[in-house]
Formats: sequence, structure tokens, C-alpha cells
Amino acid sequence: MTTRYPHVFSPLKVGHTQIKNRILMGSMHTGLEDLPDAGERMAAYFAERARGGVGMIITGGIGPHPTAGMGAKLLGPDDVAVHRQVTDAVHAAASDVKICMQILHTGSLAGTPDCVAPSPVKSRIARFQPNELTEEGIAEQIAAFANCAALAKQAGYDGVEIIGSAGYLISTFLVEKTNQRSDRWGGSWENRMRFPVEVVRAVRTAVGADFIFVFRISAMDMLQGGMAWDEVVSLAKALQAEGVDVISTHFCWHESFVPTIATMVPRAAFARVTGRLRRELSIPVITSNRINMPQVAEDVLARGDADIVSMARPMLADPDLVNKAREGREDEINTCIACNQACLDHTFTGKLTSCLVNARACREVDVVIAPAAAPKRIAVVGAGPAGLAYATIAAERGHAVTLFDAASEIGGQFNLAKRIPGKEEFYETLRYFGRMIELRGVDLRLNTRVDAAMLKDMGFDEVVVATGIVPRTPAIPGIDHAKVVRYIDVIRGEAEVGQKVAIMGAGGIGFDVAELITHQGTSAALDIDTFAREWGVDFQNHPRGGVTGIEPQVASNGREVTLLQRKATPVGQGLGKTTGWTHRLTLQRRGVKMVSGVDYVKIDDTGLHCTIGGEPVLLEVDTVVVCAGQEPLRGLYDDLVALGLPAQLIGGAFEASELDAKRAIQQATELAVAA
Ligand code: FAD
Ligand code: NAP
Ligand code: SF4
Repeated sequence: MTTRYPHVFSPLKVGHTQIKNRILMGSMHTGLEDLPDAGERMAAYFAERARGGVGMIITGGIGPHPTAGMGAKLLGPDDVAVHRQVTDAVHAAASDVKICMQILHTGSLAGTPDCVAPSPVKSRIARFQPNELTEEGIAEQIAAFANCAALAKQAGYDGVEIIGSAGYLISTFLVEKTNQRSDRWGGSWENRMRFPVEVVRAVRTAVGADFIFVFRISAMDMLQGGMAWDEVVSLAKALQAEGVDVISTHFCWHESFVPTIATMVPRAAFARVTGRLRRELSIPVITSNRINMPQVAEDVLARGDADIVSMARPMLADPDLVNKAREGREDEINTCIACNQACLDHTFTGKLTSCLVNARACREVDVVIAPAAAPKRIAVVGAGPAGLAYATIAAERGHAVTLFDAASEIGGQFNLAKRIPGKEEFYETLRYFGRMIELRGVDLRLNTRVDAAMLKDMGFDEVVVATGIVPRTPAIPGIDHAKVVRYIDVIRGEAEVGQKVAIMGAGGIGFDVAELITHQGTSAALDIDTFAREWGVDFQNHPRGGVTGIEPQVASNGREVTLLQRKATPVGQGLGKTTGWTHRLTLQRRGVKMVSGVDYVKIDDTGLHCTIGGEPVLLEVDTVVVCAGQEPLRGLYDDLVALGLPAQLIGGAFEASELDAKRAIQQATELAVAA
């Protein structure tokens, strides 16, 4: 079969063996590892991805020592059985897919008082100051890595990946800031890299030559005082000499102030750095970060920037991504939009990982799409995320689905979201659902505002009301003043916005509106040079850590914007755990003022009158944009109930408070698989 992606679909020799293509499912901690039925759930999760066509899988991190943190550990023969379930399931699903177990020691980030590190340096994001490892302690840790790798081999894995990046144990030996030792494990560069080199030597001895050995290093750790480029190269060469089969490049140190995987990071932004390293080595090199579609992977490989492309979150979004690429069905790919909302935000708040665009991710055992026992005629009203997910899954199960929307295009509020600079990936979700509508045979009726009487006449067995929301209009004197505008009209470009602006409401939409109305020039998400400038990254000269250390400059169009909320908590506190800081920082760098503890009094020709912390204040603004949340739009549902028709509510129409697309799609998916 000819393919559009010849580089992606060419096999590669890796150590003693071969992988069938160049797509690797990158490591993700999902939380499945920590469940009582971890073996069954991980087996189902990984087997589905193996069937989906990837060349190689790396599991989530497994601890080699009691101090390693992050839950699941592989310490002795008793722990092997659960991993055997995983490897058997993957090899049964696809005998030509390799699966490697990641060995992760989180070091000072372990979150327990017994956490260890080369020096007692507390990370900004850690809970505890780590205990300094003694000489014996270091020897014990090296032996633990070797023991864990040997057990992984016993469990049927094809190899291991050791993570030596991101601020975890191994990387803290490499950097002076976290390694302040003066013995043979610290001080000079040769001493600082001794720990990873000794770990690799011990692991290779323990597992023999016939076992894939991947080592992940920070090619840019995004940290002032981080690794210099010649240190990165020297480390990679030393690991290669010790018998590592593949070097995986990582662009991360968890406490860094540079976003590396969020949606505002351009696709494949860091791949050229991998390319530079690849030219120094003779073993294969993996690149990663924001590579979410096959063409992006193909371009990276064709440029010679990597031998293998790691896709981690894209495999949550669509387990079948690689098969779809191989078969020329890329328009069917459910693309990862890099929102982090259901994956990393969950991981870092102790919840089970899933995916905003694929609510089945990590719930393969519970959420099963099976043919409907008794196919029905179902009307779905509203083609926002909730209606789209419900309609396409119900139709896939064999129901006859008609999907109505009053608008001229599918997507509901996603059509507003996609206009926000940095949210360009939202177009992909709309493309995906558009294709699924065609493929599943959903009868789509756009430009059709339906009412209960129409639906009754059409004789559906069931009506699903996914009509979404209406923006809330706060009852404040002057709310109908000419200078007050709705966020919908601002985002659509249908409202005049002046030079001085107050935004009433600082939730996700308030932040997005502030981003839109202060934005200047190209979206950083679409241009690597702009991204580098806005986040202080120097790809050309590669200073230590890759960062310039100079306060980044973010272009602004000069509007004076104040973002307001009534709560006394810090503005933006409710944004995503792993992405909120990037939005706050960007707006602060554009000079947006953020004020909490506001009471709105009135709006008149002079501006917005309010009290802040009890003090009266007049904000002399030209425009007030209302972003004060939403109310459910349920009139249709009430009318259907009054007519005695079977109806159910989903998405924003069901509950507008704390609604987001993750909840809308999850609820729709769960109901559609049970319909
Ligand atoms: P909606 O998307 O509101 O869709 C409802 C649909 O019903 C509309 O298309 C409407 O035309 C149609 N409709 C209504 N009445 C009728 C009728 N009588 N007949 C026919 N059709 C009808 N969420 C996130 O999770 N992450 C984000 O980053 C994010 N960013 C956002 C940015 C912006 C600027 C906005 C506005 C929203 C954002 N959201 C985000 C929120 C997310 O878009 C909503 O939570 C989601 O769209 C709700 O889905 P829904 O299907 O319930 O409703
Ligand atoms: P939201 O997050 O609930 O924020 C609403 C804002 O309005 C809050 O700041 C609230 O703060 C204020 N408010 C509420 N009632 C008010 C009233 N009566 N008068 C004045 N102010 C009032 O909702 P949203 O910003 O509209 O976003 C809708 C949903 O889309 C959210 O749930 C969000 O998760 C999702 N979204 C997510 C993202 C993302 O990046 N993840 C981006 C955009 C939207 P006070 O009550 O303190 O004033
Ligand atoms: Fe990608 Fe968002 Fe899904 Fe995470 S939740 S895998 S970032 S689409």
C-alpha cells in the first residue's frame, strides 16, 4: 500500500530488534496503575493502542525503590503478575508491537517526607525538602534501577525506558542548582553525570543485550542554570557508549516557567533541538512535544530531526491514530487539542486520566460502544460538543439519529473558542465531528431551529436536548448602556471594543476575551519564533536550559484591560491546574490588570462604578464586556415535557454551572453508549 507518510511507515532497527514504524506512544501516568484492578484496566487500555498500530509503547512511570513516589512500584517478584497481564494483552493484540516499561524515580518530587535527592534542595513545587543521599544510598538506588529493569524483563516487557529528565531524581544530579555535592557525585560535569552513567551500566548488565533500553534526557530543561548544550551532547554520548539503544529527548523541568505541551505551544516546536542532537549520535533519537497529527510527524522525520516520534496525549484522544494514518483516513483522527483538561490536570490533582475529546480514554472497560439492542429514531437538538458526541456515538451503535442546529455550522460554542489566539486546535475537533457525522450516517439539519411541536410531528422515539446555554446578564443598573457588550459579540467581531476595557467576570471566557482583545500579531501557537520570544527560549544559541533569563516580551495592541471578579480569591485560580499559570502570565506581561473582591454598582457614561475591597472606585472605561457565566437553555425541554414526549437533557442545557466541554462530552458519551 502506498502511503502519504513514507518516513513514518518505515521500520527501524532498535538495539537487538526492529520496530515496524516510527510512532511511539509516549509515557503517561494515568492513575490506572494505582487501581485495585490495575492489571485488567491497563491491559485493556494498552491493548487498544497496540491494535491501533503504534510501533512501540512506553508505559507510565513505575517506581524502582520505596522512595520513588508516584504510586505503582516494581520492587520484587510479587509485583510482576500485574505487569504480565499488560504485556500478554499487548502482545496478543499485536505481536509486532513492542512495549517498554518506564522506570521513574521522582526524587525530590516524590511528595513524601522520605524523598531523596543528591542535595537537600527543595523544589519550588515540592512538598518536602529531600533527604541527601549518602554514598550507600546512591549505591542502593543504582541497584534498585537494575533490579526493577530485570523484573520488567521477567514480566514480559520488550524493554525499559529510564526517565532522566523533568526534575526527577536522575536529572537533579545533572544540574548544579540541585546537585551541590562536593564528592564524586557532584561538582564537575564528569561527577554530576556519574549517577546516570552508573545507572545505565548497572541496568544493561542486569538485562543483557537482548532488551530495548531507552533513556530519556532533557534536551532543554527550560531552567535558568540548567544543562548547557555541550553537557546535553556529552551525556547522550556517554549513555550511548554504555549501551543505551535509543535516546529520547524531553523538553521539561516541572518547575520551569515555559509551557512545553499546552495548546499555545506550536506543533513540533522543539523537534529541531532533537535534530541537532541526533547529528551527534549514532543510535536512534526520539522527539516529542505537540506532535499530534501524522503529517507533523512525517515532516519532522523527513527533515532528519528524529528517528522516532513520540505521541503521548494523541494516543488518549485517538487510540487508532496510526491505523487511520496508514489507511489514508487522517480526516477521521480525533486530534488531541493539547488542552490538558482531562489528562495532566487530572494527573496533578490525583484523578484518573481521561481525555476531553475521547471520554473512553482510560475507561475502556466501563465505556463500551456496542451495537444497540433495539435501534431507535433519536432527535438530537444542538450540535455543540454534547450533541455532537451523543449523535455520532448513538449513530455508530445503529440508532437512526437526526441532529438539528439553529446555526449554519456544527460546533456550538467551539466556534467561539476556535477564534481565540492559542486555541486554533479546536478546529480539528470540529473537523473530526464533521467527518463522523458523514461516516456514521447522522442526518444533519443545519439552519433549523426546532420547537417541541415540530419534534412531536416528526415522531421520534426519543429527543436529546443539547441546546446549550445563554450568557448570564447580571442585574446591575446600566447593564443595557451602549458601552456594555456581550462576549459572544466581541468574539464574533460584531461589537465595538474601545481602548479602555473592563471585563466583568474572570472565568475561562473572561481570560479568553482578554487574550483576544489584547492580542497583537501572529498567534504564538502558530509560529515557533514568536513562541520563543514570548517565553524567553533561545533555540539558536541554546544557553543553559535553553532559556535567555531575560523577562520575555509579549506583544500587546496597547488596550488597557482590567479583568474583574467578585470573589476575593486570586484571579484565575479556577483555571486549569497545568495551564492556568500560562494564561495569567501572558496577560500580566501584556499589562492586563486583575482585580478580585469587586462589587459592581452601576455603569454610566463615565464608566463602571464599583467597590474594590469596600472602597468606591470608578473605572473610566469605554467598554464593559460581560463574561459573567451562563444559564442553561431549557425552554425546549420544558415544552417537550409538557407535551409528554420522552426527552433528556445533556451538556450546558442540563447544567451550566462549571460546565466545560470535557463534562459535556463525557456526559453525552456515557448516555449514548447506554441509549
Ligand atoms: P453549546 O456548545 O452551547 O451548543 C448548543 C447548540 O445548540 C448551539 O449550536 C445552538 O445553536 C444549538 N441550539 C440551541 N437551541 C436550539 C434549538 N431550539 N434548535 C436548534 N439548535 C439549537 N470548554 C472547554 O472545556 N475548554 C475550553 O478551552 C473552552 N474554551 C471556551 C472558549 C470560549 C470563548 C467559549 C465561549 C467556550 C469555551 N468552552 C471551553 C466551553 C465549551 O465550549 C462549552 O462548555 C461547550 O460548548 C458546551 O457544549 P454544549 O453542547 O452543551 O452547548
Ligand atoms: P465561569 O468560569 O463560571 O466564570 C464566570 C465568571 O463570572 C466568574 O468570574 C464569576 O466570578 C463571574 N460571575 C458569575 N455570576 C456573576 C454575576 N451574577 N455577576 C457578575 N459576575 C458574575 O464561566 P465562563 O467564564 O463563562 O466559562 C464557561 C465555561 O467554559 C467554564 O466552566 C469554563 O470551564 C469553560 N471554559 C474553559 C476554558 C479553558 O481554558 N479551560 C476557557 C473558556 C471557557 P465572580 O462570581 O467571583 O464574580
Ligand atoms: Fe489532548 Fe486535551 Fe485529551 Fe489531554 S484532554 S489528551 S490534552 S485533548
